[in-house]
Amino acid sequence: MAEYFIGIDLGGTNIKVGLFDRTMNLVDKSSVPTGADMGPEVVVERMVTAGKGLLKEAGLRIEDLAAIGIGTPGPADYPRGIVIKSTNMPKFVNTPLRDMVASGLGNRPAILENDANVACWGEFTMGVGKEVTDMIFMTLGTGIGGGVVCNGELVRGVGGNAAELGHVIIYPNGRACNCGQRGCVEAYGSANATAARATEAIQAGEESSLGEVLRNRGEITSKDVFLHAENGDKLACDIVEGTAEALALMCVNMLHTTEPACIVFTGGMIAAGDALLGRICRHFDRLIWTLKKETVTICFATLGEDTGIIGAASLAQHAFQQGQI
Ligand SMILES: [Zn+2]
Repeated sequence: MAEYFIGIDLGGTNIKVGLFDRTMNLVDKSSVPTGADMGPEVVVERMVTAGKGLLKEAGLRIEDLAAIGIGTPGPADYPRGIVIKSTNMPKFVNTPLRDMVASGLGNRPAILENDANVACWGEFTMGVGKEVTDMIFMTLGTGIGGGVVCNGELVRGVGGNAAELGHVIIYPNGRACNCGQRGCVEAYGSANATAARATEAIQAGEESSLGEVLRNRGEITSKDVFLHAENGDKLACDIVEGTAEALALMCVNMLHTTEPACIVFTGGMIAAGDALLGRICRHFDRLIWTLKKETVTICFATLGEDTGIIGAASLAQHAFQQGQI
């Protein structure tokens, strides 16, 4: 009986593939370089070969595979499984990725979904969101990716491109965002924006112990900013407060939008631990209305590096069971 699922996390650098049983236990996983510059045919071939390899290693046949889930960054026509364009895979233009992968894997049912939504779904079904039905998810990296789960389903929007939470405007006329808007939460609360805001302040002449890091290394990371804030540097403290305040504003806005049980942050910056989470919660408590007491939990994700493959496989299983694919 077909009761295994393959989850694929297609990134610009690596392809991660995981084989899962019907209780979403990881049977085996592998990772291969994407080889994006060689074009979609080669990339798909690598995805298919990795998937077949995992099945073979586990003593399974293609018939044992129920469905395939693929997570990748947009913009894409997700309902039709087509990657429209990709910043880290420039040769992918209107590429029917979902069907190409499926045809290499026995034409099993497959689903293509935005990578942030996939990670959100993984955390919702197998991580910190396991016990809830409504959840907000935000990844803090180069930008801010988002996912929204309402009544146990991902919110996808008419074209499948929801939920671009990073581009919700929190400060009208604020900092310019890479997307062309101004004042997006991503321009304040992402790891890159945290580092960029510190760099700009120092270049504008502000005193900070980060100045030496910038002179010596030529760049500052968000990790540096949190470290120097911990050591009491005034500018670094102001910057991380600004990061936390931006994220807290998003929490207030999202609470009023969907009333989630939890708001979950992930990405490299959560390594800052309570120096980030404690500040977000403090700003949230200050900014939120007083009409009634809110019980939303603001927390960090728990799944770690396998989130992408877990989410993709789990989403494939859900779509398969619901008859969506
Ligand atoms: Zn933006």
